[in-house]
Amino acid sequence: MANYRKIERILPPVPANWVGNGFKVHNFFPSGYRIHSMMSPFYLMDYNARIEFAPSDSPRGVDVHPHKGFETVTIAYHGKIAHADSAGNYGVIGEGGVQWMTAGSGLLHKEFHEESFQKEGGYFQMVQLWVNLPSKHKSVPPRYQDIGHEDKGIFTLEKDMGKCFVIAGEYKGVQGPAKTYSPIRMLDIRLKKGGKIEVPSNPHYNLGLLVLKGAIELNESENVPVDHFVLFKSTADNCDVLISAAEDAIVLYLEGEPIKEPLAQYGPFLMNTSEELEEAIREFQSGKYGHLE
Ligand code: MN
Repeated sequence: MANYRKIERILPPVPANWVGNGFKVHNFFPSGYRIHSMMSPFYLMDYNARIEFAPSDSPRGVDVHPHKGFETVTIAYHGKIAHADSAGNYGVIGEGGVQWMTAGSGLLHKEFHEESFQKEGGYFQMVQLWVNLPSKHKSVPPRYQDIGHEDKGIFTLEKDMGKCFVIAGEYKGVQGPAKTYSPIRMLDIRLKKGGKIEVPSNPHYNLGLLVLKGAIELNESENVPVDHFVLFKSTADNCDVLISAAEDAIVLYLEGEPIKEPLAQYGPFLMNTSEELEEAIREFQSGKYGHLE
């Protein structure tokens, strides 16, 4: 039998909570499951499982709020999200699109359903990750990477049984477009029923994956249904992850080098010490993060 990476836990979605009035999310971590230290550099994962929104005349989303000390990565699978920030960036995350926003030294932003989508309604499914920044990069200037589905690296499986879209890092020599401040591999894996993909994981990196569509079999042993998250064990050996699609499936693969530093979090700020948190709150209250209508 192949040397497969061992699974720590297969986690069902915890009850959903609303973020503003636009995002009905299952917080897999850090609140839902206290696994964030085993998922570092990923600190938070909010998952809006596929739901249908009725047409609406009023905006749906989260109004102006600050962030500092990390990056928000938003991936849209269904529906469209419009956003704007106090660094002057704005845009629409379309289906399959990724917004990789570095809050860094601090900014304000807002996140809403895109207006025509809000008016027409329809299926909505998205993931937002908070990616921690190493202390030496916590105060980098804000940055915004708008990555369309067509911008991702593409590795096509044999017999066209699926595709591995590379958002960050690389897979079999195919590089993803996202620039990151610590080593991260983020893969949007889309398999046809019966398709298989083997991913060699780095034994020193943390690893988890989310099933967004269909169902998969992992490592020729464990079945994972839709909307479930898989946390893998830390390991000393090189090892592979084998994902087989029991039906047409979409999987988000998250791997990264852990940031082994103290953490201090309060609301939308993620720093290393409580002094830095207090400073972030003072900066926000004094208007240092700029202005956004
Ligand atoms: Mn936000």
